[in-house]
Amino acid sequence: MHCYTHREAEAVGVCGICGRAVCDTCARLTPTKVTCSEACAADAATQKSIIEFSQRSVTVTKSMRIPSTTIFTGGMGLVFIGWGAFEHVIHGRDFDWFIIVLGALFLLAAANTYRITKKVTREP
Ligand SMILES: [Zn+2]
Ligand SMILES: [Zn+2]
Repeated sequence: MHCYTHREAEAVGVCGICGRAVCDTCARLTPTKVTCSEACAADAATQKSIIEFSQRSVTVTKSMRIPSTTIFTGGMGLVFIGWGAFEHVIHGRDFDWFIIVLGALFLLAAANTYRITKKVTREP
């Protein structure tokens, strides 16, 4: 196999981005790949950071372990209770028990979905 750019030179490797054969002179080593040009080396660097970024976000979501339904219902509960408290404190109205109870139900539902999801996703 011969270098893509230098036809007479023996290739020492293949570019990890475009697959062209590279010789000693044109091979550019990146932390992860052998590449044939600055452009491919830049591509390899981008790929590496994208992979690292996605790996990092997977770790974050794994460590959070709070399902989105829990966040949603819990948020709704807080909004309702906050709204009831706001009306009471700011406008001096009586507590609107309907809103408070509704908020409490949402919080209960959130706790429930959290428990159920935890049970399902629990590792053996
Ligand atoms: Zn290349
Ligand atoms: Zn070459």
